[in-house]
Amino acid sequence: MTDVFGDLVGQDEAVAMLRRAAASAAALLRAPVAAPAGGHDDLDALAEEYDGDPAPAPADPGAGMTHAWIFTGPPGSGRSVAARAFAAALECVHGTGCGTCPGCHTTLTGTHADVRLVVPEGLSIGVNEMRALVLRAASAPSGGRWQIVIIEDADRLTEAAGNALLKAIEEPPPRTVFLLCAPSTHPDDISVTIRSRCRVVPLRQPPPAAVAEVLVRRDGIAPDVAEWAAAAAQGHVGRARRLARDPEARQRRDAVLAVPRRLTGVGAAFDAASALIEAAEAEAAASVVEIDEAERTALQTALGAGGTGRGAAGAMRGAAGQLKDLEKRQKSRATRAQRDALDRALVDLAGFYRDALTMALRAPVAPVHTDTAALAGAGAQKWDAEGSLRRLEAVLECRAAIEANVKPRIAVEAMMLALWRG
Ligand SMILES: [Zn+2]
Repeated sequence: MTDVFGDLVGQDEAVAMLRRAAASAAALLRAPVAAPAGGHDDLDALAEEYDGDPAPAPADPGAGMTHAWIFTGPPGSGRSVAARAFAAALECVHGTGCGTCPGCHTTLTGTHADVRLVVPEGLSIGVNEMRALVLRAASAPSGGRWQIVIIEDADRLTEAAGNALLKAIEEPPPRTVFLLCAPSTHPDDISVTIRSRCRVVPLRQPPPAAVAEVLVRRDGIAPDVAEWAAAAAQGHVGRARRLARDPEARQRRDAVLAVPRRLTGVGAAFDAASALIEAAEAEAAASVVEIDEAERTALQTALGAGGTGRGAAGAMRGAAGQLKDLEKRQKSRATRAQRDALDRALVDLAGFYRDALTMALRAPVAPVHTDTAALAGAGAQKWDAEGSLRRLEAVLECRAAIEANVKPRIAVEAMMLALWRG
């Protein structure tokens, strides 16, 4: 019953748009296409040729297919899920995204020969990676449908990488499709020129009820746990699932939400800062240790560690360089993982002060953290709306400072002091 779009929670409009585009793309593939006259066979030209009806342009230009797309939305809204689902629909042998055919299946499991996924592991996507990608994307699709490149976190493109991508988007090979994911179309996230070449698929923050529903239906989570997790995760589907299933994730959240209670003085504020930083480091280290080790072993095997003979000495020199490259990549990934872990903690903390603020204002909204609602209520009485707002702002400023490359420990210490002083 559920097709490839079934995992997109609370995104009815975006799904309708993508379904129309997939149908339009399938129609293009079915159309008997003569060699294009001007040699510039972009999709618009193909669409016109296919559209046997000579006079009218399609009523809804947004319904058609195009070469470049940007999926935008807040973290956890399902940008990359949407991009992958759309890729599957494009590669689907039925052209619908049935979810069961080989095209759908291999796309969703990441093994389709014509679908490439770029997930930046470090803080940015470099120009060399992008050039190699653009080059490969220019080849004809082996499966006869579309050559697809999905770029997660396209906001982490370096300027040079963005320019390399722009060239490919400006003159796309006829069967190549770029799917970019970014928080927004703000120029800080995506260059204006790239944006102008793309169709935007806006995703919204899914409502907690929709998130809870999918946790129950797809993951078999008990309804009360699903409701609690969906509210606590503030619309982030992946985070809600982790909270519902992973006791360690719940413990980390509990530790973060204990912070407001522990801020009893300057010393306690510094202690709380240290604890938060160290917890993020530990969480990040645990998340990358396995893959780091696997990569090192794979590289050593590929380099024939322990080999002897004439070529061995030269191979060892090259090997040292490759190991150094790998270490650099792994360090960059670890930094990213630490920042992500710290940011999750800050979002939880912001939720607590948001609860205090809405309670002080007597706003008729449900609390983010139902399990610390009493504590937030006590805070609301003590601090009033103004004090709650100042504390919420301190947390948000800390997030912004870290995003702007302030050293995390310094930003978190400043935040804890502000939270304590009020
Ligand atoms: Zn299919």
